[in-house]
Amino acid sequence: MKKRRAGIITPFITAFIIILFFRPALFAGAFDYIQKAGGALNAEAAPGSQTSENAPLANAAQGGKPACPGGHVHGPQCGGHKIENSNLVIIYGKAGGEEYEVIKNEIKESQIFETLAQHLGLQIKLPAELKLKLCMAGEENAYYDSEKKEILISYELLRYFEKLVESQQGLSEDEKAELFVDLAFFVTLHELGHALIDIFDLPITGKEEDVADQLAAWIILKTFGDDDHQAVLALINASEWFVAEFDAGQIKAEDLEFAGSHSLDPQRFYNMITWAYGFNPNAATAALGSDIEELLPEERIEFAEAEFERMDKSFMTLLEKYLK
Ligand SMILES: [Zn+2]
Ligand SMILES: [Zn+2]
Repeated sequence: MKKRRAGIITPFITAFIIILFFRPALFAGAFDYIQKAGGALNAEAAPGSQTSENAPLANAAQGGKPACPGGHVHGPQCGGHKIENSNLVIIYGKAGGEEYEVIKNEIKESQIFETLAQHLGLQIKLPAELKLKLCMAGEENAYYDSEKKEILISYELLRYFEKLVESQQGLSEDEKAELFVDLAFFVTLHELGHALIDIFDLPITGKEEDVADQLAAWIILKTFGDDDHQAVLALINASEWFVAEFDAGQIKAEDLEFAGSHSLDPQRFYNMITWAYGFNPNAATAALGSDIEELLPEERIEFAEAEFERMDKSFMTLLEKYLK
């Protein structure tokens, strides 16, 4: 075997996978499964369990549904397979070159996407198979292909995230792992947003790209982590993607795609901050480590809670039939 570059996700495998994701009420009974999937978890890595304060999507909290009745434990040998209780199928394409081989192996072994799929399987009823394909794409990119019913996330994009994380100053290894996963999950959930709009033919208005961001943010805020603080932190971490390359001093008007289908990166960043703040102002302030007034104008702050509430109500209405 070739010597492996030490990667970002490795520490995550042993500790973070549980802390980060799930509201315990959602997966009473699933804990064993994740322990197996996550490898050598130590007891301290377990969250303060059974203390979910937040209502997850729909009425899932009532559940205590077993997440994975079949008890299938994913191993590195799994190529592409259906996740129990979910119609999401994860496919690992070939990696081109050692740099991508490393990240592919890390992702596969850490099972982060399987864990996400498992989580989503508890929330959303997909009527048919939806593929989540990780592969080379020749560029840092992610998209949803409505013909193939396939979400594609490129290894190049994941490698880019890894570099972005490595460039952050002053983060512990665990924080780096967490940031990487938050970035990877946000982009996946954004593409899932496009997929849900297509599959359920959701009657949205406004730019689909904005709605995909909203859906991703909404799923993160309402279902990730043990409590609001972790959920908000996951979203704020992910927003780093849109500030990473934004240097106000360097921006030229001709580089700004005002007519593009995506909102501009800084707008996407400020949207995410607003939704996090609107969801839980205290948690957002804590996660940001700065006053919200330094980031958002007064009128946006004033209506942030109403903005999130409207968004929440809208998705609950639009997705009512499709939530578990
Ligand atoms: Zn498997
Ligand atoms: Zn998009």
